[in-house]
Amino acid sequence: MKQIWAPWRLQYVAAPKAEGCIFCAAAAGGDDRASLIVYRGTLAFAILNLFPYNSGHLMVVPYQHRARLSELNDAEALDLVRLVDLSIRAQEMAFHPEGTNVGMNLGRAAGAGIEDHLHVHVVPRWVGDTNFMPVLTDTKVIPEHLEATYQRLRDAFAALTQAEPARRTKHGGA
Ligand SMILES: [Zn+2]
Repeated sequence: MKQIWAPWRLQYVAAPKAEGCIFCAAAAGGDDRASLIVYRGTLAFAILNLFPYNSGHLMVVPYQHRARLSELNDAEALDLVRLVDLSIRAQEMAFHPEGTNVGMNLGRAAGAGIEDHLHVHVVPRWVGDTNFMPVLTDTKVIPEHLEATYQRLRDAFAALTQAEPARRTKHGGA
């Protein structure tokens, strides 16, 4: 998949480069809206991709700085998978996609932008959205800006976790 449309990219590129790992920095930061974290689970969090493949593209990331799934303990792995599922359902509630791609890019050859902190991409899909050419020629693509996308997903996560307390994962819990 290719990155398609990101008007905020220039702004991002112009900003000073963050030291260290961006996922660790986002998780440690106090401003989830600024760092695009839409939901904090117990052992993993969901963050909007600044360079989305598609509207609503999330990444699910363990708090622990780990490169490989085998480095996660069972609780971390379970929370990661549960949060992938919650992310899919939040995207469905917020954007009504017709499908979802879930995947990991492990290693630079596989397209990993950040190699040493694993993250699972959760990308909403619509029939016909694979035609990237109109996008590249500046016609149309991601209809929503990042801020609006953030709010819709955050609301969806909140609604889902309130509706299903038994499945809720909460930061700081056991
Ligand atoms: Zn990290």
